[in-house]
Amino acid sequence: MPSHHLDTQVVVVGAGPVGLMLAGELRLGGADVIVLESRQAPTTESRASTLHARTMEILDSRGLLEKFGTPPNEPRGHFGGIPLDLTLPSPYPGQWKVPQTRTEEVLQEWALSLGADLRRGHEVRALTVEDDHVEVEAAGPGGPVRLRALCVVGCDGENSAVRRLTGTAFPGTDAGRELIRADVDGIDVPNRRFERLEKGLAIAARRDDGVTRVMVHEFGRPAGARTGEPEFDELCAVWRRVTGEDISGGTPLWINSFGDASRQVERYRDGRVLFAGDAAHQQMPIGGQALNLGLQDAVNLGWKLAVQVGRKASDGLLDSYHEERHMIGRRVLTNIKAQAMLLLGGPEVEAVRAVVGEVAGHRPAREHLAGMVSGLDVRYDVGEGPSPLLGARLPHTDLVTPDGAVSTTALLRTGHGLLLDLRDDPEQHAALAESTGPWLDRVTVTAARASGTDLDEAGLVLVRPDGHVAWTGPRTDGLRTALERWFGLTRAAASAGTTAGASAGTSADHGRNSMSRLEGKTALVTGSSRGMGRATALRLARDGALVAVHYTSSKEAAEETVATIEKEGGRAFAIRAELGVPGDVHELFLGLEEGLKERTGSTTLDILVNNAGVMGGVAVEETTPEAFDRLFAVNARAPFFIIQRALKNLPNGGRIVNISSGLTRCANPSEIAYAMTKGAVEQLALHFAKLLGPRNITINSVAPGITRNGTPVFDIPEAVEQMSALSAFNRVGEPEDIADVVAFLASDEARWITGSFVDASGGTLLG
Ligand code: NAP
Repeated sequence: MPSHHLDTQVVVVGAGPVGLMLAGELRLGGADVIVLESRQAPTTESRASTLHARTMEILDSRGLLEKFGTPPNEPRGHFGGIPLDLTLPSPYPGQWKVPQTRTEEVLQEWALSLGADLRRGHEVRALTVEDDHVEVEAAGPGGPVRLRALCVVGCDGENSAVRRLTGTAFPGTDAGRELIRADVDGIDVPNRRFERLEKGLAIAARRDDGVTRVMVHEFGRPAGARTGEPEFDELCAVWRRVTGEDISGGTPLWINSFGDASRQVERYRDGRVLFAGDAAHQQMPIGGQALNLGLQDAVNLGWKLAVQVGRKASDGLLDSYHEERHMIGRRVLTNIKAQAMLLLGGPEVEAVRAVVGEVAGHRPAREHLAGMVSGLDVRYDVGEGPSPLLGARLPHTDLVTPDGAVSTTALLRTGHGLLLDLRDDPEQHAALAESTGPWLDRVTVTAARASGTDLDEAGLVLVRPDGHVAWTGPRTDGLRTALERWFGLTRAAASAGTTAGASAGTSADHGRNSMSRLEGKTALVTGSSRGMGRATALRLARDGALVAVHYTSSKEAAEETVATIEKEGGRAFAIRAELGVPGDVHELFLGLEEGLKERTGSTTLDILVNNAGVMGGVAVEETTPEAFDRLFAVNARAPFFIIQRALKNLPNGGRIVNISSGLTRCANPSEIAYAMTKGAVEQLALHFAKLLGPRNITINSVAPGITRNGTPVFDIPEAVEQMSALSAFNRVGEPEDIADVVAFLASDEARWITGSFVDASGGTLLG
């Protein structure tokens, strides 16, 4: 834990497709991320417009494909300009044409919807790496900005500022040859795929809007030592020499050049500094491989980094990003170099082109090259085993589960890992679900049949969030080790040494090490200065959570609650916000996020308890519209909007508990309006449960009966006696009775309960 205040867990530099993809993946994994981008607005230039089959599969596994509509598909690609059929078994064979602007737009919208904090107009100027954090300084629109985080990832392209500022070398070769490329309006030249002419290579493709993308290389012409982009005049002159055509009457929309430079950083991870995309590797953008390679870096890194900054990662998980992706990058760089030779070489390469063309006509060679270009052949070293699935991407397969038909791709949407149980044995499956309990907030366990497919006989298949198979086996031997390696340690293992040997206590054991089942979690309990909110805050803190103690007027009581928690060895902080008034939720989250960030470096909120409430206690005829509105504003409207806002902070596996009242079941004419507010609160559990199920967030209602809360009526013995008689236990409820129920619902043990109503009224009015 860093000794300093942190602004976020991860700073990503660069909001191109790679940075945005990474930001979304980090958020899916529950990590806080700020993305700094020097450009004020997204690029309007669509330089990279090819998405390959593997990238399409990944976008589908995040539910993003429908946003692209049906992009034009071309099964044919090329290898160094030699036609190559890219078709391989995949739902998305071949290449798909999507303008980079659209890819960025979709990824930006997605990352923001998941809660990424994107700051445009911020140019990174300085970067310091300390033992326990990094500090990133940027020039922002309002002046300099300094951010402290646990890690920084350079996704800022070939000229990466992160690389420069950290003094990271970028070894490789300079460009020897170049292609000049432009989008030109108002010209009429024949379309050409890769036309090799006597003096050079020309490519032209006219779009529906009349703009033509031209690219040209003149054989033997060395890449210029450029300081900026080429002028249009230069392009026209080279185009004329190679094709004999005059395009000088056209209007260039943009123009640039790219060479065959080939570079790669030596380590994709150096402590707290990481690189992805073009910041990690520079290559000639042939056949759209650069963008696809970068997006796949991001998807390999995101979930690992999220586990790492969440302090759950096993040793080596984050380093596996370097090990896996550096090797893939090197291989792509090699195939691109080979392609650059074939493409930009003059007549001297014709013989090699002829032989490669002939070899590529044979099926195994074609499939080999297509697998390499499309990214479908990527296989990571995840360990030894007999299954051909190990390390490869899980093929898209239609499954039948007890809940109906679903595809493997759809099962990856949450960004969780996936444990497929294909054994068709309910008893063994029940045992499996139990043994994987500690990982259920990170791994979805699904019993399924995959009849007639390659998966059918696979037994158990563990899949990483990036879709690659991490482990398989007929039985569970070795599964636990694989779960720990890829999905982090269980809480018990992580806290071994502090909790070892401790017994699972009840709330009566006020020792903090009695259970620690919420160790590392954060909680907000609204209205926890007094009553059952206070008891809940104390209980959650005893279970190990860092608790935000919320109040509106009872500052001293809130501070006393915090002091009690701290005295017991727990962690808490107080925040004030009046609920039921304009701006209430904003104020609440300002205090909450500041408090969380300061203590954890993140704004992740694992547990939300909507407890604050006001009673009515007014006869029907005396209830004014103002009083009615006030009751609804505090008791029903505030919880709704608190949940809405908290969705940005709640990670997968989060918990929401709303305090209702036994009065939704037992009549009391003095509390009609109040009971109505609680009836409304109960609806939250039902409907939000459906919405939040895919994120494994549970939401439930707890309905207390009459509960001692320090109001004067509890000092009158006769009144207490009368109230006690309503309960099957012949006593009134104590705040701790409710706190224990809330703590259970907040725990991992309650993972299978959602959308439900728990009567915690001590059997009130059972009849
Ligand atoms: P309590 O002792 O009356 O305490 C109420 C808490 O809510 C206090 O922390 C208070 O903050 C906070 N609060 C009230 N109005 C607020 C507002 N407008 N903005 C922000 N905070 C506000 O409560 P309780 O009796 O333990 O009840 C807790 C929950 O259980 C409520 O939702 C209640 O409706 C429900 N409930 C209670 C009973 C019962 O018999 N006690 C029975 C069924 C259900 P301050 O201290 O700063 O005022």
